[in-house]
Amino acid sequence: MTALTNPLSKVDPEIAGIIAKEARRQEEGIELIASENTVSQAVLEAMGSVFTNKYSEGYSGKRYYGGNEVVDEMEILAVSRAKELFNAEHVNVQPLSGSPANLAVYMAVCKPGDKVLGLKLDHGGHLSHGHPVNFSGLMYNFVQYEVDEKTCRIDMNRVREAALRERPRMIIAGFSAYSRDIDWKAFKSIADEVGAVTFGDIAHIAGLIAGKALENPVPVFDIVTTTTHKTLRGPRGAIIMSKAAFQKDLDRTVFPGIQGGPHDHVNAAKAVCFHEALQPSFQQYAKQVIRNAQALAGELMARGYRILTDGTDNHLMVVDLRSKDLAGKAAEIALDKAGISCSRSTIPFDTRKAMDPSGIRLGTPAVTTRGMGEAESKQIAAFIDEALMKASDDAALAKIRGGVRELCNRFPLYV
Ligand SMILES: *Cc1c(COP(=O)(O)O)cnc(C)c1O
Repeated sequence: MTALTNPLSKVDPEIAGIIAKEARRQEEGIELIASENTVSQAVLEAMGSVFTNKYSEGYSGKRYYGGNEVVDEMEILAVSRAKELFNAEHVNVQPLSGSPANLAVYMAVCKPGDKVLGLKLDHGGHLSHGHPVNFSGLMYNFVQYEVDEKTCRIDMNRVREAALRERPRMIIAGFSAYSRDIDWKAFKSIADEVGAVTFGDIAHIAGLIAGKALENPVPVFDIVTTTTHKTLRGPRGAIIMSKAAFQKDLDRTVFPGIQGGPHDHVNAAKAVCFHEALQPSFQQYAKQVIRNAQALAGELMARGYRILTDGTDNHLMVVDLRSKDLAGKAAEIALDKAGISCSRSTIPFDTRKAMDPSGIRLGTPAVTTRGMGEAESKQIAAFIDEALMKASDDAALAKIRGGVRELCNRFPLYV
């Protein structure tokens, strides 16, 4: 019994110490990585639950193992909450993460070599949307659309031209680094014109859609995937939503096509996150995320930074550091020293390499979760500006870090 009930700090003080260190890092730093967030204690508890002990290959009522009556109850609830949240005809909650969810969509809809249209990675797309080193680019014949060179926005005329020219089997709309609304209905009508399946990847903006701050593509598109750990503020994982007509093919592709047993402890935590996202307070959260992003972008622009598309409609922005004679890697390192996490990012038509591109990507989901508002977002812009202007002055960066810690102390995460 003792082996089962001893706390981590007693069983493995080394890892317990490392976890405590990470908790402190998260408490004391400003998290601006657009794909990250901070989950509730309730989500953490569900993830650390005894569901981690269970094997449940298959789906509710049709499992390949015994003892799944409680898992079924949990998974049915997770599915029904996700359906309600996104107004979906069908939901599969088993995908282990965003990339495997996307793999399942490709495999369910396309044969290897089929043509797929998606947004290019360095124009804001995702690796799993056809990058040559990714399974998507290796297995399928990807044709990629770009953003407009001047406006940095997706030009639907160009998407339509590409679709008419290439006649793809499937068209993807979705991004990891794009800050403007997507015209889902325009994508759908282009796809209908060429007989293509519509696939929306809302990994980044799912929480903003669930919070009714952005338009929901689920009723419009054939298939939509999302991660659950970004703006949706749940555990690491993903779900696939679709029209009923795609249910059988998608489910069969997730299991037994790609995965074995689902991660039931994570799926329980997904159910908790859907419950949280269904509360009215989550709509306030989603709106505040966007207001904070707009305040951060506005203040950076006022300080002379070029923001792609001159602002943002969602939670993220890409800063073109060429406007300040800086580059992405040095900026990321300087901000890290100042206690601010962000990710370097390519910009469309970047002439620099991916390891040291011309931009950084910033997002406000995590700072909004800890209660920061527009005033704090402007303060963060001031920290960023000061750190970038003193990027090689370690003493100055340490001083900024002190200010960052003070701000964070006013908005505690778990303490
Ligand atoms: C984050 C992301 C994914 C992949 O998610 P992982 O869980 O990291 O595999 C897929 N698509 C988009 C658009 C994303 O932003």
